[in-house]
Amino acid sequence: MDRRKFLKTAAVGATASAAFTTNLYAKTTKTLKICLSWPKTLPIMGEGALWFAKRVEELSGGSLKVKIFGANELVPALGVFDACSKGLIDGFHSGPYYWKGKNMAFSLFSAFPFGMVSDEVEAWFDFAGGMDIWRELYARYNLIPFRGGNTGNQMGGWFRKPIKSLADLKGLKMRIPGLGGEVMARLGVKPVNIPGGEIYTALERGVIDATEWVGPSLDLIMGFQKVAKYYYTGWHEPGTILELTFNKKKFERLPKEHQAILEAASREMHSRIFNEFQYQNAIKLQELLSGKYDVVLGNFPDDVNEAAKKATQEILNEYANKYKDFAMVYDNIKSFFPKIRKWTDTLPKWYLDIRDKGFIVD
Ligand code: CA
Repeated sequence: MDRRKFLKTAAVGATASAAFTTNLYAKTTKTLKICLSWPKTLPIMGEGALWFAKRVEELSGGSLKVKIFGANELVPALGVFDACSKGLIDGFHSGPYYWKGKNMAFSLFSAFPFGMVSDEVEAWFDFAGGMDIWRELYARYNLIPFRGGNTGNQMGGWFRKPIKSLADLKGLKMRIPGLGGEVMARLGVKPVNIPGGEIYTALERGVIDATEWVGPSLDLIMGFQKVAKYYYTGWHEPGTILELTFNKKKFERLPKEHQAILEAASREMHSRIFNEFQYQNAIKLQELLSGKYDVVLGNFPDDVNEAAKKATQEILNEYANKYKDFAMVYDNIKSFFPKIRKWTDTLPKWYLDIRDKGFIVD
């Protein structure tokens, strides 16, 4: 191409590019208010939401902005669902199981005891109908959900006294939301649901005897190791989904490209949060194992695990009989879970079992 022709082509290209940019971004700058059920300074989750806001602004060339409000800044930590449903705010970052009082089926979108692990649940949402039914049910509340992070396997929790057998759970007051709390209730525990920011004080003052939160990644930052000595692995949240949910009408009024940007940025945030949980769990577990804290790390005794699994199956059956929406979601899970479990058992589980613990050590 001669120079003259090149310049002409380049000029046409530049004009076309400018026109494209103008078409795409010549919108009035819009700012969305998104509220969190946790402090915006909370590592991984709060910081993940702040990262999302930055990413949306970058992707939209500044035509779409997101302002993040931490728990209780604009609305109470657990008031975000109602505020968003009514259109008082544009969106929220939280966990679906907090809303089981509105519809028991919502707890199944977070996680359920002895249920799917992270990669299994991701497949369920994207390809086995999970996301479709979640959106169908949230639409009744004028909401449209996206995934807002996956925590990976969660620890069973912190206890002020050791759990040596099922009998030790009787009468304990424990902060544990969702179906995990329902299961614990059948094992004699009194479950309570309090927001993250209030757990430490409740545990320190003995208002509660135990709490679960997430895993070493966040639990050590919360300081639970200072007020509870016994830390157990768990089965209650094997791969928990967080939500980034928008007011449906407000979302649908946004230009299509802004809707796509929110979806793309939420995907990025979702995987970023999951990856950071995995990373921080590995790092903070080392800190926990270093002997720096007076903490006993262990597993629940077998009788607790067996009773919990039995109670989980009872609850799933009972709720499926009692609640129509719960039955719809549970039926969907039942049609997929055994298949993905078979695959996981066939290769990933086998691989993890044979992986040499002495292989690549630092
Ligand atoms: Ca949890």
